Amino acid sequence: MTNQSKINNVVILGGGTAGWMTAAALSKSLSHLNITLVESDRIGTIGVGEATIPTMQFFNNLLGIPQHEFLKQTQGSYKLGIQFENWRKLDHDYFHAFGSTGKGLWAAGFHDFWRKGVNNNACRDYSKYNIEAVAAKAGKFGRLQTPLNHAYHLDAGLYAKMLRSLSEKQGVKRVEGEVEYVRQDSESGYITGLTLKDGSKLDGDLFVDCSGFKGLLINETMKVPFNDWSHWLPNDRAIAVQTRSDKPPAPYTRSIAHHAGWQWRIPLQHRMGNGIVYASEYMSDDEAEALLLSSVEGEVLTTPRPIKFKTGYRQELWHKNCVAIGLSGGFIEPLESTAIHLIQQGILRLIKLFPEHGIDALEVAEYNLSATLDYEQIKDFIVLHYKVTERDDSPYWQFCKNMDIPESLEKRLNLFKKTGRFIQRQEELFVDSWLQVMIGQGLVPDRYHRIVDEMTDQQLEQFLDKIASSLEQQVATLPSHAEYLKRYCSASM
Ligand SMILES: Cc1cc2nc3c(=O)[nH]c(=O)nc-3n(C[C@H](O)[C@H](O)[C@H](O)COP(=O)(O)OP(=O)(O)OC[C@H]3O[C@@H](n4cnc5c(N)ncnc54)[C@H](O)[C@@H]3O)c2cc1C
Repeated sequence: MTNQSKINNVVILGGGTAGWMTAAALSKSLSHLNITLVESDRIGTIGVGEATIPTMQFFNNLLGIPQHEFLKQTQGSYKLGIQFENWRKLDHDYFHAFGSTGKGLWAAGFHDFWRKGVNNNACRDYSKYNIEAVAAKAGKFGRLQTPLNHAYHLDAGLYAKMLRSLSEKQGVKRVEGEVEYVRQDSESGYITGLTLKDGSKLDGDLFVDCSGFKGLLINETMKVPFNDWSHWLPNDRAIAVQTRSDKPPAPYTRSIAHHAGWQWRIPLQHRMGNGIVYASEYMSDDEAEALLLSSVEGEVLTTPRPIKFKTGYRQELWHKNCVAIGLSGGFIEPLESTAIHLIQQGILRLIKLFPEHGIDALEVAEYNLSATLDYEQIKDFIVLHYKVTERDDSPYWQFCKNMDIPESLEKRLNLFKKTGRFIQRQEELFVDSWLQVMIGQGLVPDRYHRIVDEMTDQQLEQFLDKIASSLEQQVATLPSHAEYLKRYCSASM
């Protein structure tokens, strides 16, 4: 195999969310390829990863999966955002909802009007002006003239099953077995094939590493270095457990901060996904498990599953003829449910830059550059949640509050605090989200845009009230989230 060879045979190593998403999308978009996916039932998958962001709609559309069918098959629910509890301080919560908050006017952002409103005691709660947040808090979901921005909660195992069936219909060959040995060309270092424990061989032109955290190809074989971000994001462990739902599913994820980490609650139709993410330097495994089990609701259905991880990403996600997608390529803790999005990004980028006529260093460099940008931008957004806090009630929070942060984040936070300015950067995924989280965590700008003073105080109050009451009226017309699911997406149908 040389870098000039035509690429016809693609081998995907791993059948978790990353592997089957890759198989489904490649077989749909590049149907001439011979695609083989190898997975090991003995090793299994990570078995978590159940909250998403709105970009998942785009991916399902690409695969031709209708939304209601998707939710039925994955026992899924709608997600309008995340409620952050105890993050800014104890007994405080705020909402990060999808979609934008309020509306800007005359070149000023809505947050400028809100900021002056706070000075005038005309408002306080920023989420009152975001329709997704208002609907989420009311437990509602449905169709409005302007559709609600939403993502999904899903059962990852059922999603992989659904994608496997789709991929196999599209011609993907599935092999069950454990890869024991990776063969490489002695000169070029390109991967030429995988040898399984039973001695069978899988040869290919391009290898997609979806083997999970260990990164059997990108890490253990290719030895691509890892950029470690644990000095900014010290959480390195998680424990996941499922419970029986004892109430209707809420249309949002809950993220509850603890003294050395945080806990998620992801409501599905048939059960609740729960887990705790924590830093082993500040909390022992036993303490984390006890804390998790003492704070879940409903009957515990599974044995708590411990997971170790390291935050960061591979310096090259595409190296020679190996592309790492999913956990093998990198991981940023699941606070904003971005991992499945990063998988999608990797897949879509691979489809766009697919090396049909051989591997071109320029295409590879382009792939790695934009993949890096994705990781870097998300990393800054996640670090924001820890750095901007009033909490100092434990050594963990004292560390987070006082830690050095990436320069790019430092500049952004200082600019917002001093001037109220927030500028979207190149191809940035989260935009309004930054404002919601900065304000939610307690970073309120010192100033607002001068344009806001063009309104009298009374006009400003009316402007703010009108937005809030219009949202409330629209939300009042919606059915409850549970009713909506039952009517259109019930898994029992
Ligand atoms: C605690 C936690 C919470 C998370 N929550 C979210 C979330 O809410 N939202 C989100 O978007 N993401 C989340 N993620 C990330 C998400 O779980 C992963 O991105 C997603 O599941 C993809 O995993 P994967 O397919 O890369 O790896 P895995 O699921 O680990 O799959 C690896 C595959 O490789 C196979 N394999 C490995 N070695 C071999 C071998 N030698 N031979 C054959 N097969 C092999 C395995 O059998 C398996 O099929 C979370 C992650 C963690 C750790």
